[in-house]
Amino acid sequence: METFTVQSPNVLYTKDFIESKYNYETTKVVPKKCGYEVRPVETEYTFRTERQVPKVGCMLVGWGGNNGCTITAAVLANKMGLSWETKHGVKKANYVGSLIQSSTVCLGTGPEGDVYIPLRDLLPMVHPNDIVFDGWDISSMSLADACERAQVLDCGLQRQLRPHLENLKPRRSIYCPDFIAANQVDRADNVLSGTKQEMMEQIRMDIRDFKKKNSLDKVIVLWTANTERFCDQTKGLNDTADNLLQSIACNEHEVSPSTIFAVASILEKCSYINGSPQNTNVPGVVDLAKQHGVFIGGDDFKSGQTKMKSVLVDFLVSAGLKPVSIVSYNHLGNNDGKNLSAPKQFRSKEISKSNVVDDMVESNNILYEKGEKPDHCVVIKYVPYVGDSKRAMDEYTSEIFMHGLNTIVLHNTCEDSLLAAPIILDLVILCEICERIKFKVAGDHEFQSFHPVLSLLSYLLKAPLVPEGTPVVNALFKQRNCIENIFRACVGLKPQNHMSLEHKHS
Ligand code: NAD
Repeated sequence: METFTVQSPNVLYTKDFIESKYNYETTKVVPKKCGYEVRPVETEYTFRTERQVPKVGCMLVGWGGNNGCTITAAVLANKMGLSWETKHGVKKANYVGSLIQSSTVCLGTGPEGDVYIPLRDLLPMVHPNDIVFDGWDISSMSLADACERAQVLDCGLQRQLRPHLENLKPRRSIYCPDFIAANQVDRADNVLSGTKQEMMEQIRMDIRDFKKKNSLDKVIVLWTANTERFCDQTKGLNDTADNLLQSIACNEHEVSPSTIFAVASILEKCSYINGSPQNTNVPGVVDLAKQHGVFIGGDDFKSGQTKMKSVLVDFLVSAGLKPVSIVSYNHLGNNDGKNLSAPKQFRSKEISKSNVVDDMVESNNILYEKGEKPDHCVVIKYVPYVGDSKRAMDEYTSEIFMHGLNTIVLHNTCEDSLLAAPIILDLVILCEICERIKFKVAGDHEFQSFHPVLSLLSYLLKAPLVPEGTPVVNALFKQRNCIENIFRACVGLKPQNHMSLEHKHS
C-alpha cells in the first residue's frame, strides 16, 4: 500500500490504478532576426500507474562476476536481516548507495517544515528483498565460491551466506573468445555449444524456465558480464531487426554474445539493460525492441569517477567557470580491470567515458565556441594487488576570472562492486515501474508506454542510450530530477521548483 494519498480533483485512485491529470509546462523558443520569441506551452497528460506490484525476477549475464555475486549475496543478507562482526564493530546489511532505497524526496511542507519520504515510496515499487535472482556465466563457480573469489564482502558475512549461495550455480552462457579479452579464457568452463541460433534458443528457454519455476510475473535481464569489444555496425548485418535475426540464423561472426542476449530477452518480452560499455544495442536491437514494445536500456553503469564528473563539470560550467582539461587515471585489480587491460575492451570503456560532459559544455555558449570542448583523457591500468578497491585520480583544470587557472585534483578509493551493485537494483526497479506506467496526451484515445529506449534510466548509466533524435542528458541532477518529477507527475504533483516563495514574504 502507498504511504500517502494525494487529495486532488486531478488524481483518482482505483483498485488497480493511480490516474493523474497533469499539466506539462514547457517553453517554446522561436529564433527571430533579432533575439527570440518565447512562448509558454501547456500540454495535458494523463498518467496511469498500475498499483499491483508484480513478482519480479532478475537474470544477470555474468552472474558469477564481482557485481553479480555481490548483489545476489547482499540482497540475501538484507532479506535475512544478517549482521556480522568486523574489526570496526558489528555491521548490519543495508541498501546504502541505492538511489531508490536510500535517497529521499521532499513530498511537501507539513506543520514542522519540509516532509521527506524515501524515493521508493513515491510510487508502488518492487522491494529489492522480493527480487529473485538467476543468471548465466561462462565460469561455473557457485555464487558462494564466486563471492570468495571476488573478495568484496566481509568473511563473517560470506560464512553465513555460504549455505544459501553454494546451491546457486550460473547457467551455461555464450562464449565467443573474440569479443572479450584473451586473458579470460581460463574462466570459460561453463559454455554453450552450437550455432548462434541454437544458443539464443537456449537462452530463451532459460528465461522461460526461470520464470515458470519461480512463478514470476516478469523477468528483467541485465548484462553485467565482461566488457566486450565494439562490434561492427554494418548494413545488412545488424541495421534492422530482420537483418539481425537473419544474421543470428546464419551464425554471423560479428553478432556479439551481448547482442544475442538482448535479442533473446526482447523476443521473450523481457526488458534488457546493458551495464557494460559495448555497443550491444545496435540499430537492429533497437528496431526489434520497438517492434515488440519491450524496454532496452544502457550503456555502462555510472558508478564512481563518471558520477563525480557529471556533477563537478555541471557545477563548474553552471558557475560560469570554464573546464579546459579533464584527465582521469584509474587503476584496479579485479577481473574487470584484467579484461580492460586488453586494448579493444579498453577502447569500449574509453568511448563510454568520453562524452559525459558534452551536454554541459554545449549548454554554455559564453564559455565555449561552437564545437569547442575541454581536453579529456582517460587512462585505465590493471594492478592486481588493489583487487576490487579501485583508485580513480582526476585532474580538472578550469579557466577562472581574467584568465586565471584553477586546478582541482580528486583521489577516490572505493570498492568498485559495492558502487555498482546497488545500481543494478535501481536499474531493475526503475525499469519495472516504468513497465507499469502508461500515459496519453490530450486528444489521444489510447494510452502508450514510454519509448522502448528507456532514457529515464540515464542517471544510472555512463553513456545513456536515448531514442534517436532526442538529446542525451549527462548532468546528474537533471537526470535525477527527471525521475523524481515524472514520478511526481504520476501522482499529480508539480515538479519541485525550490522557489520557497512562502518564506520570502516581508
Ligand atoms: P567481473 O569480471 O568480475 O564479472 C564479469 C563476469 O562475466 C565474470 O564472472 C565472467 O566470467 C562473466 N562473463 C564474461 N563473458 C560472459 C558471457 N558471454 N556470458 C556470461 N558471463 C560472462 O566484472 P564486474 O566487476 O562484475 O563488472 C561487470 C561489468 O560491469 C564489466 O563490464 C564492467 O566494465 C561493468 N561496470 C562495472 C562497474 C563497477 O563499478 N564495478 C562500473 C561500470 C561498469
